[in-house]
Amino acid sequence: MGSMKACLLRAPAPIETYPLEWTSVPDPAPGPGQLRVRVQACGVCRTDLHVVEGELPPRKSPVIPGHQVVGIVEKVGEGVTRARLGDRVGVAWLHRTCGACEYCRAGRENLCDTPTFTGWMVDGGYAEYVLAPDAFVYPIPEVFSNEQAAPLLCAGIIGFRALRLSGIQPGGRLGFYGFGAAAHVAIQVARHWGVEVCASTRDPRHQRLALELGARWAGGTLEEPPAKLDAAIIFAPAGEIVPAALRALKKGGTLALAGIHMTTIPPLDYRLLYHERVVRSVANNTRRDGVDFLRIASEIPVRTHVEVFPLREANRALNALKNDAIQGAAVLDCS
Ligand SMILES: [Zn+2]
Ligand SMILES: [Zn+2]
Repeated sequence: MGSMKACLLRAPAPIETYPLEWTSVPDPAPGPGQLRVRVQACGVCRTDLHVVEGELPPRKSPVIPGHQVVGIVEKVGEGVTRARLGDRVGVAWLHRTCGACEYCRAGRENLCDTPTFTGWMVDGGYAEYVLAPDAFVYPIPEVFSNEQAAPLLCAGIIGFRALRLSGIQPGGRLGFYGFGAAAHVAIQVARHWGVEVCASTRDPRHQRLALELGARWAGGTLEEPPAKLDAAIIFAPAGEIVPAALRALKKGGTLALAGIHMTTIPPLDYRLLYHERVVRSVANNTRRDGVDFLRIASEIPVRTHVEVFPLREANRALNALKNDAIQGAAVLDCS
């Protein structure tokens, strides 16, 4: 059995201490129904930062993070029926669901009672190889390069689910709070649907990117948008934004919270919520979301802005993400 290079997390620690160790580990062997994927590119997500710094408590230790993998199927386990050797596939956050609980049976597998998540509960894509179940990988449309495609697999899919859950309609006005990887993809889908976007974000470079991508207005996080919003999405993990976003929302509007982790939401004056405003979180995604999103993304086609780092520099990429220094999405070159 050979070995592969990987970025290994032994124990959560602040990213400033460079906790990911560049090391060799045994090549993973695909079990029944599994594929071994040779990783070409892996996107860097804020959730990876939550895994590395321990906001998501360890579920496997040590662990290889990374859940936006684009790679080539290189080995297949017994019973694999969909993927073929040489296929280019995407491996995303939803590693596997049970298929049997009440949520899975109702087509809501994003809420599965016993899900497995890539790069947290099983090893992910900050490595030369990753394992994934045949039934949970996505074919990658040809129009995207490896680096372009990687951020679509979480930032893209989750942003798309957040758009859906916000209930925004064509011609409506939508607020984005935070303008990182997910928002820079979601704005392209929203514009494609004829939605007007107002982007609230603290970083002036992110405000500029939002305007370049067609936002009607960009301003500071707590600044009031020029007109009331039909719906809004908070991408930033900061609970203090919730009251400001509700204040900007029209009666009956929905505020979707797109992150897996958020700091405490301050006490809410009921008047902010009254008039049937809705606050809802966005949890994971179904495979249907992934398939629908990748189809729309290739039709538009979405252009991702990426900053590419060598795989061994994952610590540096995550530090840049934490410091708002990434325009669009960070991607690791794992080829
Ligand atoms: Zn389930
Ligand atoms: Zn993610």
